[in-house]
Amino acid sequence: MTGSAHWYPAYVGIGSNLDGPASQVKDAIGLLDEVQGVRLVATSSLYRSGAFGGIEQPDFVNAVAGLLTTMTADELLVELQAIESRQGRERDELRWGPRVIDLDLLVYSAQEIDGPELTLPHPGIGERNFVLLPLAEIAPDLAVPGLGRVASIPVSRVEPSISRIA
Ligand code: ADP
Ligand code: MG
Repeated sequence: MTGSAHWYPAYVGIGSNLDGPASQVKDAIGLLDEVQGVRLVATSSLYRSGAFGGIEQPDFVNAVAGLLTTMTADELLVELQAIESRQGRERDELRWGPRVIDLDLLVYSAQEIDGPELTLPHPGIGERNFVLLPLAEIAPDLAVPGLGRVASIPVSRVEPSISRIA
């Protein structure tokens, strides 16, 4: 590692509802920490929540990891997808359906992008309690571009129940 590398802050949302969800989420956090050019700096508790989107399926376990990285947002997204593949994620899964692991890039530095492959900040931050609550646990003062301080973003009252499990 050269001394001149710039380390950008980023937050990753992790979720699973298949094949031992809590272990899958912990495994993903371990794999993230092993990526070259990534330093894990904070991890939230694990949260359990009911599935969303009208499909009958097991509860989800979710967490958020905060990290520093020398990679660009695009490079980091490729690494997140590589971790999903290593954990056996099939890319033809149903939207909103059960999945063994999902890693979403929530925030990357102050970037705002709306492209075909990458949307930043991730829209789930303002829409899903299973993203917002673990993010608020580790980064309440983070300024999310377009949304403001994490602790000021309203919690949705209409979603399935969510609870902290570990
Ligand atoms: P979802 O996470 O919405 O349930 P997927 O994990 O299957 O669905 O992701 C679908 C696509 O979302 C990916 O191919 C990826 O290119 C795109 N995508 C857009 N923005 C992001 C982001 N911030 N983080 C992760 N994936 C993203
Ligand atoms: Mg995803």
